Amino acid sequence: MNFADLGLSDELLKAVAAKGYDTPTPIQAQAIPQVLMMRDLIAIAQTGTGKTASFVLPMIDVLAHGRRRALMPRSLILEPTRELAAQVADEFALYGVNHDLKMALLIGGVQMGDQVKALRDGVDVLIATPGRLMDLFERGKILLTGCDLLVIDEADRMLDMGFIPDIENICTKLPANRQTLLFSATMPPPIKKLADKFLSNPKYIEVSRPASKNLNIAQFKVNVDARKKRDVLRHLLRTDNVTTAIVFCNRKTMVRELAKSLQQNGFSAGEIHGDMDQSSRIAELDRFKAGTINILVASDVAARGLDVKGVSHVFNFDTPWHPDDYVHRIGRTGRAGATGRAFTFVAPADEEAIQNVEKLTGGVIPIYDMQGGAKEAAAAPTSDAAEEQAETAPSKAKPPREKAEKAPREPRAPRAARAPREERAPREERAEREPREERAPREERAPREARVPREERAPREERAPRAARPPREEQKPRRDDRAPALSQDSDEWNGPVPGFLGVSAL
Ligand code: AMP
Repeated sequence: MNFADLGLSDELLKAVAAKGYDTPTPIQAQAIPQVLMMRDLIAIAQTGTGKTASFVLPMIDVLAHGRRRALMPRSLILEPTRELAAQVADEFALYGVNHDLKMALLIGGVQMGDQVKALRDGVDVLIATPGRLMDLFERGKILLTGCDLLVIDEADRMLDMGFIPDIENICTKLPANRQTLLFSATMPPPIKKLADKFLSNPKYIEVSRPASKNLNIAQFKVNVDARKKRDVLRHLLRTDNVTTAIVFCNRKTMVRELAKSLQQNGFSAGEIHGDMDQSSRIAELDRFKAGTINILVASDVAARGLDVKGVSHVFNFDTPWHPDDYVHRIGRTGRAGATGRAFTFVAPADEEAIQNVEKLTGGVIPIYDMQGGAKEAAAAPTSDAAEEQAETAPSKAKPPREKAEKAPREPRAPRAARAPREERAPREERAEREPREERAPREERAPREARVPREERAPREERAPRAARPPREEQKPRRDDRAPALSQDSDEWNGPVPGFLGVSAL
């Protein structure tokens, strides 16, 4: 099968060919025709399977027919992190090169100033993180009633980050007859519930992880006194043939301190964490990819899903609180045909956390002998096996997911994996953990008086008909549990576009 068999337009096929791809990946082969047929979709697929193009490509063709409307995005892609949102925007720009489509990126931490005009001209695709989108919506700064196509990407990650209530809220603001595509690496019960509620007769697609991930990662745990972690890390960085490494910490303060301390000790290290603005994060990542630095100290949210290949080592400077994060962290190495090594530092306070990791990965991780060097990691599961476990048996080692939803502000540390109270970080330091989502501070919000006069609003009759829609009788019946087509305040635009709303032409 090749891309031409999927029903994509010639312009799109040219863009795909220019990128150098001739054969669709399994998720692309299965998903693209369904999206073009306007079906709802549940796709169980991980990063690395080509899942992004599986929704970006058909979306471009669907959106090619139809008109942009001022202030009303025609489609919406929800991403859990800024980095993933930016990566999806890059793919849109790349594949949309032969189309006249406009997109807006709505994420925290980006100065967007003069892009506002483009939004006024109309946006075909809005790529957003849920918290920031809800902020704008709640202040009446954005209309979602023209969004006929919704993509919820990395839904399980959204769940981990406490975004499900926001997503439910957003779903109720969109037209009931929209098309919805849900992508997730796993299907825990709350995601299943979300899909049942907001998708209509979806096509279900599941693909296995890419072959390049079927590689062994030599995994070790290093028993270490908490105060000796930096010494041990430096020793391993110097002696274990490290070419490139990502060092994961559980707290942002630790990311900053450790990066600085490594630099002071002569290492070529950088940092990436949730407190950095978008441009600094991208710049740091580019330095790492270009080889300007070879050690990247990272937090989980900032690093999740990033397509950084060829990392020789992963160090878990802290045992992750959430066992799923272990699998995602070590998955940064052992990619693209290379073998990788993953070291997890285990201080006395990490005992429960490492037990949870081993429960999830289904094997005891061998202890690294600091005197005798590395023992072979025969007993350690491969990354593949670990990811399999993460997908099939997540509930065994984790607290109920619903808990994370109820306490979205700090969902990451499962109760069982937390250090005893006296060993826990003080409140201020706990605030250093990954943020749920950067919301706009109150003062950034536009005052109510600054509303756009009625005559500037897009008149109803100007709204474009949905392109390529199936005839009415083929459309999904409206579901009772969906929101009415217009919410109370939704057909008004009642404020200027805030400075942090970004729009760029493709
Ligand atoms: P994703 O799963 O969307 O994160 O994509 C993983 C990687 O696969 C990205 O670097 C894509 O550029 C690449 N990719 C996507 N589609 C194809 C394809 N049909 N053939 C080869 N590589 C692809």
